[in-house]
Amino acid sequence: MRSQIPSFRLPETVLDEEVNYILDLGIHTHFNQYVKSMKDEILSKDYDAVFVGSGAPKGRDLEIPGRQEGAANIHLGINWLASVAFEHTAKIGKKVIVLGGGNTAMDCCRTARRLGGTQVKVVVRSPFAEMKASPWEKEDAAHEDIPIIDNHVPKSFVVENGVLKGMMFEKVHATYDAAGKRKLVPTGEPDVFIEADDVLIAVGQENSFPWIERDLGIEFDKWEMPTVNEKTHVSTNPKVFFGGDSAWGPKNVITAVAHGHQAAVSINNFCQGIYLNERLAPMVNLHSAKMGIHEWSYDSEVTVDDRYVVPQADKKLTLSNRKKEVELGFDPLTGFKEAERCLNCDVQTVFTESKCIECDACMDVCPTACITFTENAEEESDLRNLLKMPAKNKTQDIYVSNTLATKRVMVKDENVCLHCGLCAERCPTSAWDMQKFFYNVTKTHTGCQKH
Ligand SMILES: Cc1cc2nc3c(=O)[nH]c(=O)nc-3n(C[C@H](O)[C@H](O)[C@H](O)COP(=O)(O)OP(=O)(O)OC[C@H]3O[C@@H](n4cnc5c(N)ncnc54)[C@H](O)[C@@H]3O)c2cc1C
Ligand code: SF4
Ligand code: SF4
Repeated sequence: MRSQIPSFRLPETVLDEEVNYILDLGIHTHFNQYVKSMKDEILSKDYDAVFVGSGAPKGRDLEIPGRQEGAANIHLGINWLASVAFEHTAKIGKKVIVLGGGNTAMDCCRTARRLGGTQVKVVVRSPFAEMKASPWEKEDAAHEDIPIIDNHVPKSFVVENGVLKGMMFEKVHATYDAAGKRKLVPTGEPDVFIEADDVLIAVGQENSFPWIERDLGIEFDKWEMPTVNEKTHVSTNPKVFFGGDSAWGPKNVITAVAHGHQAAVSINNFCQGIYLNERLAPMVNLHSAKMGIHEWSYDSEVTVDDRYVVPQADKKLTLSNRKKEVELGFDPLTGFKEAERCLNCDVQTVFTESKCIECDACMDVCPTACITFTENAEEESDLRNLLKMPAKNKTQDIYVSNTLATKRVMVKDENVCLHCGLCAERCPTSAWDMQKFFYNVTKTHTGCQKH
């Protein structure tokens, strides 16, 4: 996290503050220690349990002609970012090619702009619209004057007299078969040469466990990934647990945090001799958000505003100082307006069949026609078509009540509900209620679940 996510997106001060919350709990730490052998340095010390959170530290390379000859100016993106973060690297050539279309490529190109790259280009094989990078990361790169050249497949590094001059690319276009599978097909146009003083390769990231011996009872599959139980995070060695990117490959910070939590529950069980699967259920609850007939404890007004743009610091400042945070955050007024866009997905519409007198008032008042009282159908697909507004989004479940007094059912298409609460305001019998959903993740002990 510290070595790869650039400071202009995640300032060190913020990271320090967050990490210190944990360190201040009194955890014993050994920083600046590379573990070379799990057997000699960890398992031999007879710890009761071991958690491996070593990330996915290996950048994928690109073995095409010229790779070895130009090696001095060809860098693996994540290693290069780490080298910048640890201040071993402070500059880069003026002309830089970044290969890859994911978020790491976006971090590489934007970092290169801050280290002296004046003509930084991202070159990617896939069409622009299919790049893995998040749309906002692509927008931020464009804002920093970094062009993205799509549909170009790297062919070779061009090196003259031992000096990297640039790269050759083959132009392609995407074709799709009946199943929608993509194929990149050469366009037949002449290959393209792009000049470069340095190239950053950001075409993927992998796990790597050279420090874990293979005779420790920890099973590795054919991709050299440990076999890890998805629920308990235990490996085939009952003492050793995995989480974060090291368990199932690169994901994101919040997933790593969630893994750490679940593994901690397992480790607690293991140390106490409790079966690992014997975990407390998460605490789930619903509370009525009613404060009166027309009042809710949340803002139920639906706003049609688009997402507000997060203000950024002046480009002159951010491009000249790689540690200067780019996103300034909302001012209080815009923050307030942005919060008003919240659809209150945590406030659920809860229907109680026994209270419903089938007056159909909720169906009339619903602004998105998502409530229908109807005869039931044999097949869900038929029922979806019987609704006031057919429920076309099959990835979203429809809610079907039990049979009501008139033998009809109440069907709600969750896909279009605005959580406005009008159905519950209108209902004369409180058969509809707006209820706030609470979730308290599984802890090791019931005491932690009490409010
Ligand atoms: C360029 C880039 C940008 C990213 N941006 C985001 C983002 O904006 N938001 C987001 O949520 N995620 C982002 N991610 C993903 C995120 O960084 C990871 O998913 C997350 O950090 C994984 O956490 P982890 O604890 O599993 O591993 P890491 O954070 O990678 O931590 C692993 C730690 O283990 C140490 N280690 C490894 N091997 C050994 C060893 N043998 N001995 C001792 N120590 C060892 C490493 O030095 C490191 O400190 C980004 C990733 C990259 C590469
Ligand atoms: S909350 Fe609003 S949108 Fe959702 S069912 Fe009720 S009236 Fe319709
Ligand atoms: S408004 Fe209330 S009572 Fe009338 S149909 Fe809807 S849920 Fe039933």
